[in-house]
Amino acid sequence: MANVSLAQLGWRRRLGSTSAVASGHRVSRVAAEHRGAYELVDEEGATTGAVDAAVRDATRSPFDFPTVGDWVVRTTEARHDRRVAIAGVLDRSSLLCRRSRGSRPRAQLVAANADVLAVVVTARSADDAPMPPRADIGHRIEWYLTAAFGGGSRPVIVVNKIDTVSRAHGEATVDALRRRIGATTTAVPILATSALDGRGLDGLRALTGQGATVAFSGPSGVGKSSLVNRLAEAEVMPVAALSPDGRGRHTTVRRQLVPVGGADGGTVVDSPGLQDLIPWSGDMGLPAAGGVLDGLAASFGEITALAQRCRFADCAHAVEPDCAVRAAVDAGELAGERLDTYFELVADMTAGNSAVVW
Ligand code: GDP
Ligand code: ZN
Repeated sequence: MANVSLAQLGWRRRLGSTSAVASGHRVSRVAAEHRGAYELVDEEGATTGAVDAAVRDATRSPFDFPTVGDWVVRTTEARHDRRVAIAGVLDRSSLLCRRSRGSRPRAQLVAANADVLAVVVTARSADDAPMPPRADIGHRIEWYLTAAFGGGSRPVIVVNKIDTVSRAHGEATVDALRRRIGATTTAVPILATSALDGRGLDGLRALTGQGATVAFSGPSGVGKSSLVNRLAEAEVMPVAALSPDGRGRHTTVRRQLVPVGGADGGTVVDSPGLQDLIPWSGDMGLPAAGGVLDGLAASFGEITALAQRCRFADCAHAVEPDCAVRAAVDAGELAGERLDTYFELVADMTAGNSAVVW
């Protein structure tokens, strides 16, 4: 395999060099995770690692464990089980984190250090914007935007399979999406693509340049893998990792982080955890990103701004008197659908919480 540089894997986007790493150790990036085993990639290729026992004993929260996209410091030599030992996880610039379903919601780390979150919908599923039926795959765009903003990734909406609709229909779809999310404080670019005929792929390629990491989210079937394959061309890493003793070894773990675009390119992440995502509402331990409140403020900026003018600071915008949010709906300044979407998202993010977290 053509080895990739740390720069293409995204290292240049981080401060400092590898010189501070203790002897006998090196820096690698997590490309896949499977039951406590991590596939690690760096300029020398791929290897399998496991979290060092002492590190495991010192963990205090799920956020202390590596996830796909993380930069880790690991031993150069493998242990008796042929795995290298992961000695630490470096600070993250971003984290995509989902909230598990069920009565006891947990944080599930999905992808770290993604510069961009590409939210993929299809031209057909986005047909009915502003708000497709709940079961429809275009429904949860705001969920992804909130997770991205809250976790420090820049969201981009990708309307794929544009080849399946007429040009006019495609343009109308993009316009409708723009109106639907137009009220966010932070502008979200919308790209129209076809993994089939290649339309719009230059826009995606531009995002993955110079060591940038782009994570692909959206439900099964929208064309994420097809888009990743188009971007990767012949540059996809082999699926079988080489064990540290040099013998080839099959792995059933599908690599989720893949280099694309050659020396000036970057990486893409395609993970099952990004198929259906409720944003984690608690602290994610990120030094740079502000967390879920910032995520909501960025994706529903007009609502959080209006809420400042409600009489009660903890107004739920339901039955309270002098609610500026409901007043805006009554005055036709805020679409009722938009507020419903916000309520639905907040309900998803707080279901099972013993106490509301904000
Ligand atoms: P994923 O589950 O999101 O990774 O989706 P896949 O990449 O597996 O694609 C699902 C199906 O959609 C496959 O049959 C693809 O060939 C098809 N597909 C993907 N992208 C496009 C596209 O841009 N246009 C058309 N017409 N079909 C596509
Ligand atoms: Zn209110």
